[in-house]
Amino acid sequence: MKIYPLRVVLQSLPLLLCAALISRAQGRMVEPADIIVVHGRVYTENPQQPWAQAVAIQRGKIVAVGDEPEIERMRGMGTKVINAGGKLVLPGFVDCHIHFIDGSFSLGRVNLEGAKDPADIQKRLREYISEHPGDDWILGRGWNYAMFGPEALPHKKYLDEIFPNRPVFLEGYDGHTYWANSKALAVAGIVRETADPPNGTIVRDPKTGDATGALKESAQDLVAKVIPKPSRAEKLSALSAGMKWANEHGITRVHSAGGDFEVLDLFDEMRQRGDLSVRMYVAYFLNPPELRPQDLDAIEHARKKFHDDWIDASAVKFMVDGVVESHTAAMLEPYSDDPSLKGKLFWEPSNYKAAVAELDKRGLQLFTHAIGDYGVRTALDAYENAEARNHNRDRRPRIEHIETINTADIPRFGKLGVIASMQPLHSYPDSDTLDVWARNAGPDRASRAWAWKSISDAGGRLAFGSDWPVVTLNPWEGVQTAVTRQTAEGQPVAGFVPDQRLTVAQVIDGYTLGAAFAGRREKSEGSLEIGKLADLIILSQNIFDIDPHKIGATKVVTTIVGGRLVYQAETK
Ligand SMILES: [Zn+2]
Repeated sequence: MKIYPLRVVLQSLPLLLCAALISRAQGRMVEPADIIVVHGRVYTENPQQPWAQAVAIQRGKIVAVGDEPEIERMRGMGTKVINAGGKLVLPGFVDCHIHFIDGSFSLGRVNLEGAKDPADIQKRLREYISEHPGDDWILGRGWNYAMFGPEALPHKKYLDEIFPNRPVFLEGYDGHTYWANSKALAVAGIVRETADPPNGTIVRDPKTGDATGALKESAQDLVAKVIPKPSRAEKLSALSAGMKWANEHGITRVHSAGGDFEVLDLFDEMRQRGDLSVRMYVAYFLNPPELRPQDLDAIEHARKKFHDDWIDASAVKFMVDGVVESHTAAMLEPYSDDPSLKGKLFWEPSNYKAAVAELDKRGLQLFTHAIGDYGVRTALDAYENAEARNHNRDRRPRIEHIETINTADIPRFGKLGVIASMQPLHSYPDSDTLDVWARNAGPDRASRAWAWKSISDAGGRLAFGSDWPVVTLNPWEGVQTAVTRQTAEGQPVAGFVPDQRLTVAQVIDGYTLGAAFAGRREKSEGSLEIGKLADLIILSQNIFDIDPHKIGATKVVTTIVGGRLVYQAETK
């Protein structure tokens, strides 16, 4: 074996590189692309090259981004050509907060989103049952608090009127309160004497003590556990439908914040069959009161098994409080509409802090659901403590939701490197937000409602998602809301806390490169750059150029995940 002196090797390197470039320029030795996307307005999210015309893909990755002639040179006999027709091309969108299997099941159940009043709900239930006469249980979701008057809680009587003998169980749009009819309460064995479970409330009639049918937080488990479980085949078919739904809306990756850890093996099965078309980043949902050895076993086992581009299970989700609408979000000061309430933490702060420090030390990424300003502060304190103890690895802990925040805590996101994972559509200023949420929070806290711009201006990184099935996973309505802080009809006219409006580019970043950063994958995803995974979408309209109130109507024309065409709208 001949050993060349290092100097000789280094000197001949530029020569070799030169030779390769020459043959490339002459059109030889350029391996043809598998797919080229041409005639696009390509917004890359790469600051070195913000706009381009075309993209070339090979073996699931981006191999070139540039102008038309440059990419055309990579067209070979077998190259699939996608003509974007001058439309906007973006990196694939990431939904940074989702409950994927729940969302997937919701596609086949009663949808109560947007229902105006109990009569409207009854109408939808009747329609559903005429199409699904055989269902033993009637399940659905999406009702909101505002339709039930000042009490803002549903009552079993509306359901009993139409379903005296069949159990009905309906999830509120936010997943924190459920609504059961008398039959469902009876099947679950909930009687006057049944005690409230930890972190849950069986809402009762103040006079009789009977359950009203409203079940807050963990009280819903009492009913949920008696509902017949879907089979493996039913779960797989729901997940396939969910993947299609996500791809149709431009989603190429999700960050799952609970409920999907239990079905990791189903995602794996789909992958082996070639049916996985959404990349899954899945958090283990850690319940209070403490981190147990069996939790650690489950977390470490899953992380060892799933840690690639398609399925990754290296995150843990905590939930430290509830929601503002039902006064379960933990606040520093009492609720404005009821001074006897402040919400309370689901975790004992010292237990939470210890669990955060231990999991952070192991290099797991942490998600904490925190909605009230006390919840947010508790999470920041625990993350600060973990940083001081475990030092400066690339940790990127996250807080999910952050519906309101104390002014003093805003700069702590940037300072501590904590990611703000927020859901623009939750701030949608309809009556649920303006009449119930804002009434409960009061004007001072409402002035810092969904304060993404303040957090971003102070150096915090934003990541956006939906919390599907809490709201639709369609991200375009979220983009519109973050930009306008108004309803689709332009209400309120001045905007809901309008100083928190973001630009279209900032919001896209929160769903693409910011989202990839929030999932610790910005080196391989989040922008259209050479070497990154070929996840991209083509849109029906250029959202940079239109009236922002029309962004929500955007349709996805094409979705590519890992160089595979997973969705193509039918052409008219
Ligand atoms: Zn959630």
